[in-house]
Amino acid sequence: MKKGLVFLGPPASGKGTQAQRLAEELEIACLSTGALLRSALSVGSPLGEKAKPFLDRGEYVPDEIMVPIVIEWVSNQSEGWLLDGFPRTVHQAEALDRALESNQPQAIVLHVPDDELRKRVIRRLECESCHRVSRSGDDEFCPDCGGLLNTRDDDSPEKFESRLSEFHRLVFPTIQYYCDRGRARIVNGVGSLDDVWRRVRI
Ligand code: AMP
Repeated sequence: MKKGLVFLGPPASGKGTQAQRLAEELEIACLSTGALLRSALSVGSPLGEKAKPFLDRGEYVPDEIMVPIVIEWVSNQSEGWLLDGFPRTVHQAEALDRALESNQPQAIVLHVPDDELRKRVIRRLECESCHRVSRSGDDEFCPDCGGLLNTRDDDSPEKFESRLSEFHRLVFPTIQYYCDRGRARIVNGVGSLDDVWRRVRI
């Protein structure tokens, strides 16, 4: 199995967009755990049912649910891979390292100040079909697949604040986990998509 990458960043940091672009550039498989959960919710699958109460409150889905899904996905990759939105907790990071043994992933961390995130989320739309992110004021339909663009349910002001405080409480220590092991690259996430992309792809 080739080495993997994990992409960490606060909500509305552009993490999903940059992660997808990087996976395309490197021609590697990409799993967004947030998009996976939203799809599961929209089709009402057993995973969606289990995750719903947490997503409804803007809380993280428990590690017992997330870890086995992601470890199984990673174990099925024979080429390089990238995880967008996993790990979120130190426990998830440790579980991933244990499963990968000597092949432990590098982390890319997008840094964006909270006030900038609050400004961004107000204008954020997501395609119902392919999950591409757009800004309101642009088109009503996704420029990639023609799907309907909608505001994400968990981007409401209350849920967004809850997700942001979950990020501070749980993801900060996870970022520290990768920094302590010399496996984190912090990228300034402020600027246009292309500015940030130039920093990510170095
Ligand atoms: P995202 O699209 O990455 O912002 O994720 C949206 C939501 O999905 C998060 O606010 C969490 O509730 C849930 N989620 C995504 N990834 C994880 C994870 N690794 N662990 C727990 N919850 C997650």
